[in-house]
Amino acid sequence: MKNKIHKYDFLIVGAGLIGTLTALALQKKNFKVLVIENKNKIPIDKRTLAVNANSKDFLQQLGIWKILKSKPQPINKIIIKDYINAEPLIFTNSKEAMGNVIFNSDLLKITLAKLESLKLLKKNINLNIDQILPSKTILIDKEKYQFKKIILGVGKNIISNPLFKRMTFDKGHYSYVGFFKHNKNHRNTAYEIFNQDGPLAVLPTPYIDNKKSTFIFSTRKKLSFYYLQSLIMKNFANSHGQIKMDKSIYKFPIRPHLQRNNKNFIFIGDSLKSIHPVAGQGWNLGVKDIQTLCNLTDQYPLDFQGFNSIYYSKRIVESTLYLSFTSILNSLYENKKMINQGIIKFGYESLRLLKPLRELFIKNAMGR
Ligand SMILES: Cc1cc2nc3c(=O)[nH]c(=O)nc-3n(C[C@H](O)[C@H](O)[C@H](O)COP(=O)(O)OP(=O)(O)OC[C@H]3O[C@@H](n4cnc5c(N)ncnc54)[C@H](O)[C@@H]3O)c2cc1C
Repeated sequence: MKNKIHKYDFLIVGAGLIGTLTALALQKKNFKVLVIENKNKIPIDKRTLAVNANSKDFLQQLGIWKILKSKPQPINKIIIKDYINAEPLIFTNSKEAMGNVIFNSDLLKITLAKLESLKLLKKNINLNIDQILPSKTILIDKEKYQFKKIILGVGKNIISNPLFKRMTFDKGHYSYVGFFKHNKNHRNTAYEIFNQDGPLAVLPTPYIDNKKSTFIFSTRKKLSFYYLQSLIMKNFANSHGQIKMDKSIYKFPIRPHLQRNNKNFIFIGDSLKSIHPVAGQGWNLGVKDIQTLCNLTDQYPLDFQGFNSIYYSKRIVESTLYLSFTSILNSLYENKKMINQGIIKFGYESLRLLKPLRELFIKNAMGR
């Protein structure tokens, strides 16, 4: 072991979609950053991301947008339907696309390659989070390091850590994710359909002929491939034509939570909060965590005592709003009581009739 201590501004634990982007954004601001990941082979999953307009700007500023392997698929229309109201709600925005769909794998491969080429990433490093503290000497690969700030971007793994206090919300849901081909053009339309068994989101995917879509169905039930196939056919045969499902379906547990503030660590992405995927905004909120953190570094020195608390206070309101909204919406549809149906009808009609509310919805969907 050498005696030299490597001094860094930030240690980021977790090389997921948010941890890697945080590192690149901070590095661009000339901070000295190191990312550690406990796996040797970082899991790259087969999902898509609906990137809102704010997150697109962010990826453009980092020079990532233009080098994505598959051309992002714009979302020009959002249609919301449910089993209670007869007419769908339709949202469009003439000025710019409301979002773009990209592949998670495209993005993560780029961020990881950038970090590796800048030598900012160390893989296969298993540190006990309770043994790492800012400004304490930490051993990584037999070398000594000190960091002014420690960021936790370990995703939902944080939930199993007894060290931190958190609020957890309704568990027991799963998201089933898959793809299907269709012979009609998807017309760059995204759908959110509240079925009796749970919400079904369908997004146009980045394939050149506009004839492939992805679905995310969230439910408490254990479902078979055939159930999902008939669900897609029932809802999309009219708009999308002949449907052929991909055989692979992926299943993800949904674990909504919100961390409490901690003076030693900055939580980002799914480590700070995880929301029900009904809104497709989890990653977009993670981008806002990064933007907030970067803005704070312009205003305060890293050794400023209240730094972590200010960051937390700036992220807590939006995180709580999304977490509550998605969880309440889900349980309103799930518990089929008369009163719930009344509340849904009221919300639906308000969105249909009140232009300012519709504009607020679009603004939020775009992250503006
Ligand atoms: C089905 C589904 C669909 C979704 N669709 C959308 C969407 O359309 N739009 C959207 O905005 N969001 C979406 N989301 C949410 C989005 O995917 C997540 O918010 C985002 O991926 C979180 O990124 P992260 O970096 O915080 O966590 P993760 O991607 O989970 O990364 C965590 C990383 O930390 C590593 N790690 C864990 N523990 C340790 C440790 N102790 N030491 C070191 N490393 C560790 C892990 O190996 C991993 O690499 C969806 C989520 C689901 C479940």
